Amino acid sequence: MNVTKYKTKYLYLITLSYFILAFLNITFALLALVCMAVPFILLFKNREKTWCTNYCPRVDYFSLFRIFKTGFKIPKWFTDERLKKFVFQYFCINVFFIIMSTVMVSRGNFAPIDNIRFLIAFEIPGTLPQLWTPVELPAAIIHLSYRLYSIMFTSSVLGTLLAILFKPRTWCVVCPINTLSTGFLRSQKK
Ligand code: SF4
Repeated sequence: MNVTKYKTKYLYLITLSYFILAFLNITFALLALVCMAVPFILLFKNREKTWCTNYCPRVDYFSLFRIFKTGFKIPKWFTDERLKKFVFQYFCINVFFIIMSTVMVSRGNFAPIDNIRFLIAFEIPGTLPQLWTPVELPAAIIHLSYRLYSIMFTSSVLGTLLAILFKPRTWCVVCPINTLSTGFLRSQKK
């Protein structure tokens, strides 16, 4: 990924807004679906990683941590294909769990999980205030919103730590969107 091509500014406000809007209403977390879909729409259209090189708000947010110059080098094991696969598989399991649990909640077979979790398992204490609730929403929507927020929260926390320790784009090495995009582009070349 060519860092010099990354010219956009203030996209990090989108990332910050995403996390803040959930304090108004957790259903804003559904916007994560847009963040997941648009990179692939652009990829299929342009046959290149347009999103990653130009528009990703998250990487713009990680760039804020350029000020931390620890001088640490990214460990070799972090760029190993096995770690990328592991993170990708973990992401797929997470998505599978989200889909299945949302279906079960909508059928009344499963109580909605209305809290934020880090790495699926670790519950963050406390609740989001929900300052704006114009209508009562179905339990499945609330469940799905919290689960998507948890994915975004987890990857942002990990990405922030990596940005501080190493470089702003360190998370991109294992980002599932990057792994999938690279796989797609490789298959096109073949
Ligand atoms: S690899 Fe992931 S975090 Fe990095 S620019 Fe692409 S979508 Fe954003």
